[in-house]
Amino acid sequence: MQNNCIYLDNNATTKVDPEVIEVMLPYLTDYYGNPSSMHTFGGQVGKAVRTAREQLAAILGADESEIVYTSCGTEGDNAAIRAALLAQPEKRHIVTTQVEHPAVLNVCKQLETQGYSVTYLSVNHQGQLDLDELEASLTGNTALVTIMYANNETGTIFPIEQIGLRVKEYGAIFHVDAVQAVGKIPLNMKTSTVDMLTLSGHKLHGPKGIGALYIRRGVRFRPFMIGGHQERGRRAGTENVPGIIALGKAAELELLHLEEATTRERRLRDRLEQTLLATIPDCVVNGDLTQRLPNTTNIGFKYIEGEAILLSLNKYGICASSGSACTSGSLEPSHVLRAMGLPYTTLHGSIRFSLCRYTTVAEIEQVIEVMPGIVERLRALSPFKNDDAGWLQEQSLVISH
Ligand SMILES: *Cc1c(COP(=O)(O)O)cnc(C)c1O
Repeated sequence: MQNNCIYLDNNATTKVDPEVIEVMLPYLTDYYGNPSSMHTFGGQVGKAVRTAREQLAAILGADESEIVYTSCGTEGDNAAIRAALLAQPEKRHIVTTQVEHPAVLNVCKQLETQGYSVTYLSVNHQGQLDLDELEASLTGNTALVTIMYANNETGTIFPIEQIGLRVKEYGAIFHVDAVQAVGKIPLNMKTSTVDMLTLSGHKLHGPKGIGALYIRRGVRFRPFMIGGHQERGRRAGTENVPGIIALGKAAELELLHLEEATTRERRLRDRLEQTLLATIPDCVVNGDLTQRLPNTTNIGFKYIEGEAILLSLNKYGICASSGSACTSGSLEPSHVLRAMGLPYTTLHGSIRFSLCRYTTVAEIEQVIEVMPGIVERLRALSPFKNDDAGWLQEQSLVISH
């Protein structure tokens, strides 16, 4: 197994911080009590869970009672959406965006088959929303507005508080998928318009299999998981204690490092981006360059396939991601880049590099060194390297097969 790669795919998942592993391990070995038990053995675990909850609440500026643990970001999104609808059964309309994560988009698509109407807000070429379009979509029948804080593919940050003010005028519940934002953007739920907010452990140097949903005090919540009284009756099931302890520590470390890490990541990201743009012809940055996560760059290399670039990078031990997901044998371009209305040439050759606090200068320099050659070699094989129309035709032939 390979474990010494240049890992620039941190929006997909992150390395667990060694300090997180250290605090988590005893809860997989000696301290296996059930936090709900009456005896001291379980009670001490319960106490550790409470401390972890305080650590997590701190990164959100939330109260401990407003945190509900989930198994992942996907569960948080599902639970928030279902709960908002169950709490207001008379309202049948949902507002979301075309660029959400599948954990929101596919739930909304399913709800459409169950009698809900869904508005999917469009984005412009920079991936930004039109707040007038949002305003026009809201009605008294809108139960829920669910919009991501920052986009996982492009890093584009939405103006969440401006959106929230409009949502509140219509009395809808406002849910935010902040899986990419927590630990990268300072958050304070005390002064926020957000009613519910999803986060996930493995995107912030915690382990997989643990996440949380913030639920503002006073917001009506109908649980998704029914059973015991864990999580104040809002999410049944014996707590994932090691995960919860780990997430608390991960949140504490993210908060501790937030300022210095994001400054550093932004500097490295900008160096990578600017150098690639300067050394490689015909490439563009996708997304909103002013409102963007500090760790993310999504670059479209025209006339070549993102997957081919990824395979070449992989030979150098460099992990990145392409905007497109290869589904059922056909190359399906990313729904995010498509919603941005990018030309075909850019759509297919887009690569996302996502950094973290472990990313080093040497790693970025290595990518800067190999990328121009990779792109040049692939373009030499591309018959339509300077011909948008021809390339387009070629692609439509491939896709229609
Ligand atoms: C990763 C991610 C999710 C899903 O989180 P999981 O913990 O993997 O289920 C949801 N939304 C966004 C924006 C993400 O990046």
